Amino acid sequence: MIKKENLKIAIASGKGGTGKTLLSTNLAAFLSERESTLLVDLDVEEPNDSLFIKGNLIRKTEQHKMIPQWDESKCTLCGECTKNCKFHAVVQMGKFIAVFKELCHSCYACSELCPAKALPMHPYKMGETAEYSYNNLKLIESRLMIGEEQAVPLIHKTHKLVEENFSNSIFLLFDCPPGTSCPVIAATENADFVILVTEPTPFGLHDLKLAVETMRKLHKPIGVVINRSGIGNDDVENYCKTEQIDILTKIPFDKNIASCYSKGELVYNKLESVKHSLNEILDSLKNKIPCQSLQGFETLKGI
Ligand code: SF4
Ligand code: SF4
Repeated sequence: MIKKENLKIAIASGKGGTGKTLLSTNLAAFLSERESTLLVDLDVEEPNDSLFIKGNLIRKTEQHKMIPQWDESKCTLCGECTKNCKFHAVVQMGKFIAVFKELCHSCYACSELCPAKALPMHPYKMGETAEYSYNNLKLIESRLMIGEEQAVPLIHKTHKLVEENFSNSIFLLFDCPPGTSCPVIAATENADFVILVTEPTPFGLHDLKLAVETMRKLHKPIGVVINRSGIGNDDVENYCKTEQIDILTKIPFDKNIASCYSKGELVYNKLESVKHSLNEILDSLKNKIPCQSLQGFETLKGI
């Protein structure tokens, strides 16, 4: 089997508040102590990795999507555009053609099929991407504009940016949006492995099951991290055993983690239990993923 040099790991969860950001930021900082690492915050509706990775801002870039703009002077009101838009983003109201940019998927159909060329496509700002540098770690954070509803186009743009400019990073971590809908599918699409973060509660189990189902449909290799281990019950562990899903590690419930987190601090270099969990994740991944850099990675012991 050919061994890849770099490794793309997506960190996802069926629901918010399970510890996805905690794991993403600490694992990224931990890995960057040995190899060049990129952390990409794809939770574009409320990115927050930069609260914990306090790097220097390198640049901010506006991100646009293409939206049709109605040219009244050319329009013959033939109605073709409204028929051709599958997303009901173009509507004819009397002698007026309205484009609802929030619904538009930038497919170009209305623009290409308009016989009068009255719907040229124009760029429209949907969000921005910030790049930060923090020692050996780079952070890319994409943020949707307030009121923007579609996360997927910005996630795709961010993947493209990563491919074009950061593909030489050894470890690439993608902090995904919570849930199991289109944004998560877009965020995990390039990943070699998906870590699902959950907590040992009935809510955690319910949403983990949905996330597992989604990742299996996408044929993604998965492993589970149980955060706040020690609260709740054993149902998550029993489910993983039944479904033959590896538990990569259990991060014990610890008020000190919550205390550091609330101050925007990384915890792996303060709490032995968290560093131990990160080591366990890496040891587990070494057995699962044919990645040269991972095999050569010596886990850091002690604080
Ligand atoms: S397809 Fe073009 S010409 Fe026809 S109604 Fe739409 S904008 Fe006007
Ligand atoms: S570009 Fe596509 S989605 Fe957007 S308004 Fe035109 S047909 Fe609809």
